[in-house]
Amino acid sequence: MNQIVFITGASSGIGAACTKVFAQNGAKLILAARRYEKLQQVVELLSIDSSNVHLIELDVRNRAAVESAISSLPAEWSDIDILINNAGLSRGLDKLHEGAFEDWEEMIDTNIKGLLYMTRYIVPGMVQRARGHVINIGSIAGHQTYPSGNVYCGTKAAVKSISEGLKQDLLGTPVRVTSVDPGMVETEFSEVRFHGDTERAAKVYQGVTPLTPDDVADVIYYCATRPAHVNINEVILMPVDQA
Ligand code: NDP
Repeated sequence: MNQIVFITGASSGIGAACTKVFAQNGAKLILAARRYEKLQQVVELLSIDSSNVHLIELDVRNRAAVESAISSLPAEWSDIDILINNAGLSRGLDKLHEGAFEDWEEMIDTNIKGLLYMTRYIVPGMVQRARGHVINIGSIAGHQTYPSGNVYCGTKAAVKSISEGLKQDLLGTPVRVTSVDPGMVETEFSEVRFHGDTERAAKVYQGVTPLTPDDVADVIYYCATRPAHVNINEVILMPVDQA
């Protein structure tokens, strides 16, 4: 794969697993997250040649920072072929009328606005070069609203609509849009959701064999490597024992 792939949220979980599969297949990778040292650890662990990777410390909630990160890419990194909008999180699992405003804002700003900023700054170049692929990481939560999932599920329903809208807007161009929507995946996600409460986080997986980040990354890689005339619009992948 002789392509430049930009992965947000590459410092852990699904983003780090995507880094592995795309690196193993020869892609050049732009990896972004807030925790720069974690990005470095991912690169070291996977023994990725430094000439094949470009790291960016980036908070996708910050529109000016997203614009600057993309407009200041070195020329050899600027022609992005694949954007994987993966950065995202859930905070709290509270009834809406008892929820914390900061949690809502963090989810909406990251999962929706961050994804929009990245897309808005990268897709014009794809259209201009007449090639590209945007892969948004949605969730089963965009299809099913579970108790106390209110705002997180709302953000992922928005990702689903935004993916469909972008696909409509790009009709007539060769730029592809895919939404990959997993069920439960064992990552740092639950710990982040419960603000570091590892005991509560571990309980989430009771009775279910969750997906691994590699399971999701394999599907993302598959979507990215179909022939140019094939667009996989949406994939839902679930643990066998998750309702
Ligand atoms: P992780 O917590 O392991 O990874 C989340 C990644 O997002 C981290 O690399 C984190 O990096 C990054 N991130 C969070 N906020 C920001 C930000 N403001 N700016 C830049 N990067 C950010 O969880 P997952 O791998 O599970 O999550 C990846 C995606 O998958 C998310 O969109 C999530 O909603 C979705 N998903 C997860 C499921 C699950 O069960 N785990 C199920 C369905 C969908 P850093 O903290 O260094 O910034």
